Amino acid sequence: MSEVTVFEKIIAGEIPCEKVYESDRVLVIRDIAPQAPTHLLIIPKSKRIDSVDHLVDEDCEIVGELFLTARDVAKKVGLGSGYRLVMNVGRDGGQTVPYMHLHLLAGKKMDESTIGE
Ligand code: 5GP
Repeated sequence: MSEVTVFEKIIAGEIPCEKVYESDRVLVIRDIAPQAPTHLLIIPKSKRIDSVDHLVDEDCEIVGELFLTARDVAKKVGLGSGYRLVMNVGRDGGQTVPYMHLHLLAGKKMDESTIGE
């Protein structure tokens, strides 16, 4: 496992963040460099998982929790007309922080042709 990630520091309260939602198990913050009018990061708190590649069967609940949190937060902040969920995996997948997290992007019409860019 590599050095402590920015998300671990945010969870520990060592780095400030704009918090949207927090429970015992999940933290939702605004991305520091938003790529859409609404760009949230949904981060599991219970343990560090570097990426989807590092998931084990027992992590099933954590993964479910991320998606259910996305659903609930989308309702809470009023994203009724839709949103995009993205999870980057590994360097070629565009992942820059090796701590698994879900991006929630919204507030504009997503272009169907940009997913693979
Ligand atoms: P990844 O590239 O790993 O899929 O996503 C990492 C995301 O974390 C990027 O969108 C990046 O802008 C965001 N990010 C990096 N450092 C910070 C930070 O200190 N605070 C917040 N709120 N977001 C960050």
